[in-house]
Amino acid sequence: MSATESEAKGVLYLVATPIGHLKDITLRALEVLRSVDLIVAEDTRRSRVLLEHYGIETPFGPSLYEGVEAERVERLVQFLKEGKDVALISDAGTPLIQDPGFVLVRRAVAEGIRVVPVPGPTALVAALVASGFPTDRFVFEGVPPKKPGKRRAFFESLRGEERTVVLYESPHRILKTLETLAEVLPEREICLARELTKAHEEFLRGTAEEVLRRLRERPRVKGEFVLILRGADS
Ligand code: SAM
Repeated sequence: MSATESEAKGVLYLVATPIGHLKDITLRALEVLRSVDLIVAEDTRRSRVLLEHYGIETPFGPSLYEGVEAERVERLVQFLKEGKDVALISDAGTPLIQDPGFVLVRRAVAEGIRVVPVPGPTALVAALVASGFPTDRFVFEGVPPKKPGKRRAFFESLRGEERTVVLYESPHRILKTLETLAEVLPEREICLARELTKAHEEFLRGTAEEVLRRLRERPRVKGEFVLILRGADS
């Protein structure tokens, strides 16, 4: 603990939860979720399923979801200053990874509140390690832009990227994203990880055009996706 962190203040735990398979949670995560004063979730209805599965009865604090983070942070910092321990979780995986929490952590650090990560699943790492692409150097680029022009420019900007690139994409946009990728980087090898840790987990490998062809053969494109691009000349 640093000199500025007070013993009297509570601790902010950042707790990773499963990305699909309910057993993908650490013993420490369960212990922390049982022992804290409050659990701050994104969507309490979704997190309740996990907590009920493990018989955790810790009350929920104010939810932290996109758009309300700034306004809720002060209340949460107040709880911590009063000595309450708080565990932040998201709907899936590691909080702050394409999920809320950054504003809270930044404020907590500035206030000298102890921030403790409780590591566990995150979709980007699960997909990366199974992709078959180099893992020694990689870059996480979040979600590709939604507007066609910006999306094209985004993939153009990755033409010379030598590191493996990891992206998140939704089922509604995955076909459009693969179409743009097939146009801009037609030769690039990709790996599309779908439904990681779930019953229908699969990895589709090939060029964007090849993966697109396989997805288009399906009546519907469902599930959650991590898209991995092999680095240029890697
Ligand atoms: N915090 C999460 C993490 O640590 O991975 C990410 C949350 S972000 C809002 C949700 C996106 O993560 C999905 O759109 C998808 O791209 C990816 N994702 C989450 N779970 C996944 C899974 N089981 N399989 C594939 N992708 C997943």
